[in-house]
Amino acid sequence: MSNTMKRLAILGSTGSIGQQTLDIVRTFPNKFRVIGLAGGENSGLLAKQVSEFQPQLVYSALKLDLPGKAEFSSMEEIASHPDVDLVVIATTGKTGLTPALAAIRASKKIALANKEILVMAGRIITAEAKQHRAQILPIDSEHSAIWQCLRGEKGEVARLILTASGGPFYRYSPSQLAKVTAEEALQHPTWKMGRKVTIDSATLMNKGLEAIEAHWLFSIPFSKIEIVIHPQSIIHSLVEFMDGSLKAQLSFPDMHLPIQYALSYPRRLPNSELPRLDLVRVKALNFEPVTYHNFPCLRLALEAAKRGGTYPAVLCAADEIATHLFLAGQTSFPGIAEIVAKTIDLHRGIANPTLDEILAADTWGRETAANIATKESLC
Ligand code: MG
Repeated sequence: MSNTMKRLAILGSTGSIGQQTLDIVRTFPNKFRVIGLAGGENSGLLAKQVSEFQPQLVYSALKLDLPGKAEFSSMEEIASHPDVDLVVIATTGKTGLTPALAAIRASKKIALANKEILVMAGRIITAEAKQHRAQILPIDSEHSAIWQCLRGEKGEVARLILTASGGPFYRYSPSQLAKVTAEEALQHPTWKMGRKVTIDSATLMNKGLEAIEAHWLFSIPFSKIEIVIHPQSIIHSLVEFMDGSLKAQLSFPDMHLPIQYALSYPRRLPNSELPRLDLVRVKALNFEPVTYHNFPCLRLALEAAKRGGTYPAVLCAADEIATHLFLAGQTSFPGIAEIVAKTIDLHRGIANPTLDEILAADTWGRETAANIATKESLC
């Protein structure tokens, strides 16, 4: 396999992860070929990507003029196309859910950046992946770190330790948090990411979603997943084994590396464009326990995880609405957690839901969160 070209479909190619995936393709034109691209609102960028990478198949959320031999397709058709070996799922929210399932049912490898898919439907996705022998390769930096630490091991894991930078407001008091603006929240101290995940990192909702993602990816009970604050984002996560040995993966915080690892797996590729870590310049790595009181989104996510069923889908839906309202200046930073908490309180969960029940819970969660926000703004 190592000498053959990998043929890729990239869903969400105009987002942050999608663009960085194309950077890797550009660096290794003899290793990867783009068969399909799917883009969202940024149709100008999608048009440029189509003319540069010449995919056969294109999905565009908006109207687009296609050059030459490219054809419009649905994301599901692109994800399951016979010419595609690996599908990069770099969409956000629930958009990637049905395309991911289509890829899995066609026994493709999927490189997953869109964590909400596993949060919403982890049981279904992992069961289908097992049935169809479709490998799920993580792109999220914490999960890539754990995956790299587990390589060559026989599964004698005692616990997974997810690191969290704590985001820009970790030391803020409740009164400071109440005044935080969207602009401030979009300045992450260590990572450059898309808008939604940057806000989720500031509320620590992201770390709760990542615990759920880790649970499904590595079949590990929640009782064996811990979170530790590590402000430098140099150690991307750790695995503790039964004998007390800890393995960690370290690198400069840059998403190109976990993307490249998922694309090139099981090989590693030399890439001089990736920043190297200078330990002498780093000097110190710090760790501290996570404090939940200022960051209720993390607690809400872990509670939804334990309740299971449709609760994680409702959590994601309410968080997406609340985050958009915050970015639009229509709710405060603490308002995000309030909207999510109230939505979850009103939900009547279903255990072991079908895909349709999960999608219905998502729709219900969005409508309920929006209604709660409207009522609050009228008070
Ligand atoms: Mg992450």
